[in-house]
Amino acid sequence: MAAQKAQLLGAVGGQTPQLKISEAASGRFFVAPARESRPLLNIPHVLNAQQFTPNQLERLFLRADELRKMLAIPTSRRSLASRYKGHQLCSLFYEPSTRTRLSFEQAATKLGVGIVSTENAREFSSAAKGETIEDSTRVINEYDFSIIVLRHHETGSALRAASVSNVPIINAGDGMGEHPTQALLDAYTIKREKGRLDRLHVVMGGDLRHGRTVRSLAQLLSKYTKNHISFVSMPGLKMQDDVLKILRAQGTTFKEFFSMEDARSIALRDADVVYWTRTQTERLAESEKDLFAQNTKLSSPNHKSTQASVSSFVIDLKVARLMKKDTIIMHPLPRVWEITPEVDNDPRAKYFEQAGNGLYIRMALLDTLLSRRMHL
Ligand code: ASP
Ligand code: ASP
Repeated sequence: MAAQKAQLLGAVGGQTPQLKISEAASGRFFVAPARESRPLLNIPHVLNAQQFTPNQLERLFLRADELRKMLAIPTSRRSLASRYKGHQLCSLFYEPSTRTRLSFEQAATKLGVGIVSTENAREFSSAAKGETIEDSTRVINEYDFSIIVLRHHETGSALRAASVSNVPIINAGDGMGEHPTQALLDAYTIKREKGRLDRLHVVMGGDLRHGRTVRSLAQLLSKYTKNHISFVSMPGLKMQDDVLKILRAQGTTFKEFFSMEDARSIALRDADVVYWTRTQTERLAESEKDLFAQNTKLSSPNHKSTQASVSSFVIDLKVARLMKKDTIIMHPLPRVWEITPEVDNDPRAKYFEQAGNGLYIRMALLDTLLSRRMHL
């Protein structure tokens, strides 16, 4: 099983081919015919954040930068738009999404890849009749797609799909598991804004127990040296032990804060990156939902309450003022109430640019998976 998993992730099987960046440095862009260019990364599927090495990330980021520049030049933009003509992407979403689905589909469109999409497969596909993800994947494999982007409500579903798929699977979020492409765009954003991915103090706050984006990002950051993570959450929504164990094993230091008071006086003042998340109410048990609703009501900004509740984990202007001048504030979105809209105008708030970066990272990923496939 471990060997099979390693193979699915591309962790075995020889050298990763070198990227030939198409003259980005000289500012001359051309779109090399896909068949002649070598794949950027030798990975068959994108299943989790751990599978990426810093070196691979660096190449992916360069490619994303390059694609961003190409899109700004009409001639290269036009040639990109026919690069993968004749290929189709299957966008298979069992859970709601705005950004992930739209940015993948837009990324595909900009590379000339056709799209066949189902946005509510949980209700409208044969899953509703009890079909397993393995069987659905086998069937979709018969339809001549070049790539499958899968979002699913069950943790581990992307790995299960990949284990029976000849077509590359991209995990676009699997239940409470991971959201690796979000972590890639998060890391890309941090690199663009801070110029590095090591020696950072990153504060992650909100619902760390159910949030797959923080799980993936923490693991990705643990691949770099001297990062320190402060986790800020209610005790019941703390980061899960499997991720903490990985951080320990990789030598990434971390500290947990269970009140906003403590986080305010220590972590938030010193952060390089503040990564805030919403409470994943759809993943709470019924009993927890009641408690959550009560707490949110009790101490919503219009209510005077000193109770330490979910809704006190809010970034507003007062909290933002505590942060350093060069801290960046990130959020995977959707934002609900945990960052107040007044913070949006603070130049340190980067969440909308962060979402925008998803387009270029996802283009770079599709480009590498599709070009690898053409070389097989
Ligand atoms: N996880 C989803 C996404 O990033 C949530 C949403 O889009 O509303 O696309
Ligand atoms: N959009 C992210 C996800 O799909 C975060 C969220 O939904 O809160 O995990």
